[in-house]
Amino acid sequence: MLPMQGGCWLCQSPLKLTSQGLCSYCLRALPPLPLCCPRCGLPASNSRVACGRCLRRPPPWQHLVAVTDYRPPLSQLIARHKFSGVTALSVMLARLILLSWLSAKRERGLPRPDLLLAVPLHRRRAWRRGFNQADLLARPLARWLRCAYRPNGLTRRRAGHVQHQLSAHARRHNLRNAFRLEIAVRDRHIALIDDVVTTGSTVAEISRLLLHAGAASVQIWCLCRTL
Ligand SMILES: [Zn+2]
Ligand SMILES: [Zn+2]
Repeated sequence: MLPMQGGCWLCQSPLKLTSQGLCSYCLRALPPLPLCCPRCGLPASNSRVACGRCLRRPPPWQHLVAVTDYRPPLSQLIARHKFSGVTALSVMLARLILLSWLSAKRERGLPRPDLLLAVPLHRRRAWRRGFNQADLLARPLARWLRCAYRPNGLTRRRAGHVQHQLSAHARRHNLRNAFRLEIAVRDRHIALIDDVVTTGSTVAEISRLLLHAGAASVQIWCLCRTL
């Protein structure tokens, strides 16, 4: 399961900088995202202005940054990360988020966040797994960006039903009051980190909570956005 010492996570070829985790060939070969709406992150005809869906009913967050759609090889690495929590893998995946954010910042002038938060797991689930994969991604990002990170800034009150088995309506109901904000966020520009965003209902619920508490803006940073 582990890559060759110092090798690329995908093709095992040796790396000059082992901390990068992926060779330049594999990095370039990652499937690119189609043109996506900068706000909701779903396919759109223009990647600079919000799509028609967002003009009618904007999601509560201001920007969404994703590395790719949920498909191999990244989906396989994310699954390994979720079940193993290997630090070298977290660093490699976090670097992909950083690269995507930097290019989104260049293209769309996103504000630099001053606070990072990770989508929390319920205590019981985190304890069973031994880690929260979103937390493992947020730590190196905070270090590289020299940005505050509050690992316990958000808590999850109920484990809830497994989200992907529920209808859209049931998801919203399941998530209502599921999260609690433990810190002050007034006037902070926040980046909320998760590994995979599917329907967006979890990050939407947390964004509402943050904006309600006075946050200046919320960006969602993820590895994959299910399209
Ligand atoms: Zn490679
Ligand atoms: Zn949109």
